Amino acid sequence: MEFKPIYCNASDIYNLDGFSPRMMGRNDLKALGTTVEPDDKTIEIFQAGCRSFMDRYAARTVIPSMTVDVGSIDLSTELEIHNYTSHCPTLTYEVSPVKGCQVGCLYCLVTDGVHDHKLYAYENYAALLEPILEKHMAEEHYYYFSAKTEALQEPTLHTGIAHDILRTFVRHFEKFPDSKARLFIASKAGIKHLMVEHGGDTIIDLFEQLRGKMQFNTSISLMPAPLRLLLEPFGAPIPERMAAVRLCQEKGILSDSALVQPIFPSYLNQEVMTNFFELLHENKIINFKPEFLTVSPATLAWIGQLLEHFDPEQARALYDLYLAPENKDHCKQRRRTAPDRDWCMENFRTFQKMGRIYGISMSICYWVRKELNIDTHMIPIVNENGYQCLGYQRRLFEPSVV
Ligand code: SF4
Repeated sequence: MEFKPIYCNASDIYNLDGFSPRMMGRNDLKALGTTVEPDDKTIEIFQAGCRSFMDRYAARTVIPSMTVDVGSIDLSTELEIHNYTSHCPTLTYEVSPVKGCQVGCLYCLVTDGVHDHKLYAYENYAALLEPILEKHMAEEHYYYFSAKTEALQEPTLHTGIAHDILRTFVRHFEKFPDSKARLFIASKAGIKHLMVEHGGDTIIDLFEQLRGKMQFNTSISLMPAPLRLLLEPFGAPIPERMAAVRLCQEKGILSDSALVQPIFPSYLNQEVMTNFFELLHENKIINFKPEFLTVSPATLAWIGQLLEHFDPEQARALYDLYLAPENKDHCKQRRRTAPDRDWCMENFRTFQKMGRIYGISMSICYWVRKELNIDTHMIPIVNENGYQCLGYQRRLFEPSVV
């Protein structure tokens, strides 16, 4: 199935003035002014990333194509439990109706930023979900739509798969009003995504029927704007995501927490952080879950080269924060490392302090808490606004809270 993108960023990675991917080595990093000495293994992986980027650039497969294969999922499939860190304190089921993702983020936490595979959408996913909702309705569970792909993207919207999934929740709560299932959506969707109609319903219509049983958390990154146009090729522009948040709020749908990742460490300064909190504040967002970019040396190869195209100094800073041998064990998943621990801790404190000025609370991933020894005094498991981890609102389980 072919489709037209709902949002398509102006910047085209294949026609970036004066840019083409290249093989980089120690000398190239030195030429940029980096001071760290990555070990041989890291350089090997970094160069494999350069090679992969050059090959996919030549093959025009750096970003997803506008096609999706639609088929069925085996209805005996179990839903995955969202437990990246094997420490997640809430039992959350993942709702993932597409293999791959149309948004095509070049830092993607799921695919490490590689999108040269065909997208595959499950047209019968709602049928898989219905019995599982009933089976677990007596237990408090979030259903995370979606941890492994974008919930509201062209393959789920133009096929009606997203609408069917939402209708399944609507039917479930009509049949079992006391069910303890709750729908958690974290999404890069813009307002146009919420207005896509299928079978007589728009997404926002269906959200309205799930008021009190769901939350819509916008997902935004913190990086230079021109870089975002390249790293999130089919992501909605930030103003459109904020418009989606405001529409949800107008309709009484819980939408006042933001997933803020990835945050580019090299981009942060007082002005950037002030503008960021102003943006959250003016959109009535009262909680955020920050996460600094976690990236493998391979993925850093293309993110670094694209950042260098706009700002070589920021690229130098990024390489120094991620390629240092002493930081190799600060690893979240696969080979994805986070920046230097001390640097992270200092900046989490700054984020929390600035957030408090705007009355905005902070929740963090349990992995971050463990890695940085963040105690519950600094950030309680459930914070002052009822938020936990990714920005799960614990009060959603309390009758008639929202
Ligand atoms: S929206 Fe999420 S799942 Fe999709 S490409 Fe971006 S990071 Fe990956």
